[in-house]
Amino acid sequence: MDGEQDSNETELIVTDSRSTKVGEFDVRRALPTRGRRTVGPWCFVDHMGPATFSPSRSFDIAPHPHLGLQTVTWLFEGEILHRDSLGSEQLIRPGQMNLMTSGEGIAHSEENPGVTSGELHGVQLWAALPSSTRHGPSAFEHHGALPTFEMPHGQATVLVGTVGAAASSARHDSESVGVELRLRPGEHVVPLEKTFEYAMVVTSGAVELDGTWVTPGHLAYLGLGRDEIGLKTGEGSVAMLLGGVPFDETIMMWWNFVARTQEEITAAYESWSKGDDRFGRVASDLARIEVGPPPWFRSRT
Ligand code: MN
Repeated sequence: MDGEQDSNETELIVTDSRSTKVGEFDVRRALPTRGRRTVGPWCFVDHMGPATFSPSRSFDIAPHPHLGLQTVTWLFEGEILHRDSLGSEQLIRPGQMNLMTSGEGIAHSEENPGVTSGELHGVQLWAALPSSTRHGPSAFEHHGALPTFEMPHGQATVLVGTVGAAASSARHDSESVGVELRLRPGEHVVPLEKTFEYAMVVTSGAVELDGTWVTPGHLAYLGLGRDEIGLKTGEGSVAMLLGGVPFDETIMMWWNFVARTQEEITAAYESWSKGDDRFGRVASDLARIEVGPPPWFRSRT
């Protein structure tokens, strides 16, 4: 509503990620930022870890609800067990993708798969669902392998959308793309769609674009109108490239919910608090995550 950066240009804008915690996990939240809610449909980008877990410091995110979005879980190291209220139970490893579509409501947990120590490093991304599908049914997809394409000094894996001849079969409800770039030292050129806006988050190493070195802990917004991007690396580096047609609906985000109005979020909050059937039940031993009311909430009783 306010402060939205409406850039039709290709000027690079680098913003700092916000350090926060998800459970015991230190994360760098690259999106949303004060000035930017979305990049295409992407509305949330958490870079999680790398972190070392032990029997006394376990990674577990207990059951919690989602609304109006898709979650993408993508790991560089470690394993996570996903459970949701559709009955899905799915272990995810590096190179695989868990894609959960909330529709009008789903609940899930992301748990330590019985291995209580080791490294964990990954990203969690959210894509806002457009109004044409956000009231639809919830769904879960696991992609054990995703299409890749080779570059002279690296490899790209297409999680969502299409880059060149590599097309992911993952569901996406808006024109968008999500790519992991695994780069060796050298120069790289990645094809882009002119009608998409893009942002890059470096998760290890350092990547130079438009003369600026980008490191972990930042969002590099590339704008619209480019048909390719030139990158340079001096060490082995990994980056996520996210893009899409600019999302043309104004979203409202609170906690794990993506909606359009306070009333929708209040209704979802009340459903979760009461534990009614909307978000279902997750077959997890962990206690559900409870949250206080949204700031505008007033009891109607
Ligand atoms: Mn979640």
